[in-house]
Amino acid sequence: MQIIMLGAPGAGKGTQAARIASKHTIPHISTGDIFRANIKEGTPLGVKAKSYMDKGELVPDELVCDLVSDRILKDDCTKGFILDGFPRTIPQAEALDKTMSENNMDALKCIDIEVPDGDIIGRMAGRRTCPVCNATYHIVNMPPKEEGKCDKCGMTLIQRDDDKEETVKNRLSVYHDQTAPLIDYYRKKGCLEEVDGTKSSDEVFASIEEILG
Ligand code: AMP
Repeated sequence: MQIIMLGAPGAGKGTQAARIASKHTIPHISTGDIFRANIKEGTPLGVKAKSYMDKGELVPDELVCDLVSDRILKDDCTKGFILDGFPRTIPQAEALDKTMSENNMDALKCIDIEVPDGDIIGRMAGRRTCPVCNATYHIVNMPPKEEGKCDKCGMTLIQRDDDKEETVKNRLSVYHDQTAPLIDYYRKKGCLEEVDGTKSSDEVFASIEEILG
């Protein structure tokens, strides 16, 4: 089961990817989380990635593609994996195809979570993230049990720098220019599944489960 989650920032890719990964016991590979972990550790990759992420821009393909290729060839991915936030450009999708075909991996399923831009801004403004375990919440739609604290590890939740309004607007325009063309790319390959991301998290999850069969 090899799955890609597509969708604008804030469409719910991360939340759904985590649920699918836990239900099907496959690794949830989030390139954004990998970069944030590198930033926290101060690695050279983290330093490079941060300069792009803070502006809401994409990290260059050459810093992402090898990292993902290496990750999906690890032993824990033999049963499958779910990619969240990758690919984000056509060259990234081509690099993924190449790695998968060279390693005789099964066909991909691409799940596109559709949410109109107008809804995205409000969602991102209310999004809060745990800086330790990366769990995400929304102050209105998916609040933690105790205000401002992570349900899983009790840490104080934060608003990610790149979830601030100006950066979100830039991330949305980057999404339309560079990532949305992947919808057609996967449609032409015959592996695109579209899901209405304006529904509740449980309904979206149920639709994805139906697709996965
Ligand atoms: P995310 O947590 O997936 O929203 O990613 C946060 C930020 O990390 C993005 O806005 C990009 O700057 C960077 N990023 C994550 N994944 C990729 C990728 N596949 N290609 C380029 N940049 C990425």
